[in-house]
Amino acid sequence: MMIGIDIGGTKIAAISLSSEGNNLKTISTFVPKNYDQFLRELITIVEQLRKKTGIKEKGIGISLAGNINPNGSIKRAINLPWLTCKPLKSDIKKLLHQEHIYIANDANCFTASEAYDGAAAGSNVVFGVILGTGVGGGLSINNRLITGINSLSGEWGHIPFPQWKNTILPKIKCTCGEYGCIETFLSGRGLQKIYESLSGNLIDVPQIIEEYSSGEIIAKSALDTYHQRLAEALAMVVKLFDPDIIVLGGGLSQINSIYNNVPKKIQVLLAIDNLNTQIVKAKHGPASGVRGAARLIQTN
Ligand SMILES: [Zn+2]
Repeated sequence: MMIGIDIGGTKIAAISLSSEGNNLKTISTFVPKNYDQFLRELITIVEQLRKKTGIKEKGIGISLAGNINPNGSIKRAINLPWLTCKPLKSDIKKLLHQEHIYIANDANCFTASEAYDGAAAGSNVVFGVILGTGVGGGLSINNRLITGINSLSGEWGHIPFPQWKNTILPKIKCTCGEYGCIETFLSGRGLQKIYESLSGNLIDVPQIIEEYSSGEIIAKSALDTYHQRLAEALAMVVKLFDPDIIVLGGGLSQINSIYNNVPKKIQVLLAIDNLNTQIVKAKHGPASGVRGAARLIQTN
């Protein structure tokens, strides 16, 4: 049995997962207000899962939005500032008497989950992409998550687009403090800004998609631009890793037009006759964070 814990901005989700991928027990609770309460909450969750399943886990995996140092301390927690700089891994090890603790950001957990038994199961080189409020990536090779010696592998969302300064698109400051990052164009806010630059109106993403589906011309133009930018960003991934498959997750991965348009555009950008890399929608959806956290025990 493995335990996966997904730390969100307001909620904590936890599961105990069998090696076969069966969800044995789920727990959901709110994120406490400070680090001491947070550690106490994690102890309670793990003890409940141990009691319900009657066995001690092989390891515990934790997913959160942010940057994790190679030693398991938190470099930056995007939604929970009080977690920044805390030695989370060593504290949990001591408190839960568990040597096998793995902490990874949400994009890496997503990738681990989809590579293991999701949309990319059976593929060797997998690049996972989250297109949501933030934009992130993760790399899995032969079911091993490649986090890198600096824990920076897959930080694709914060690579600036080449020539971004010359684009007619709006210049948006990224959550990392820089300008021109892939995230600023491909996040939900990025799509909203693209639409706003064409229409003068700031509307939410579902409304843009609805207008696109009904053939509205500005929404079509906004989505065409979004497809092109996504293709440019993924063409870089293909040039770096040439993955067998790219799995898209997060709210914007639900835009079905991506799957028809983006592969053709990548093919043109790479000047190749046929793009062998598949681009597919995630299988596990919102559960990828917590499932992927549990899979960290098998994929590290
Ligand atoms: Zn950035």
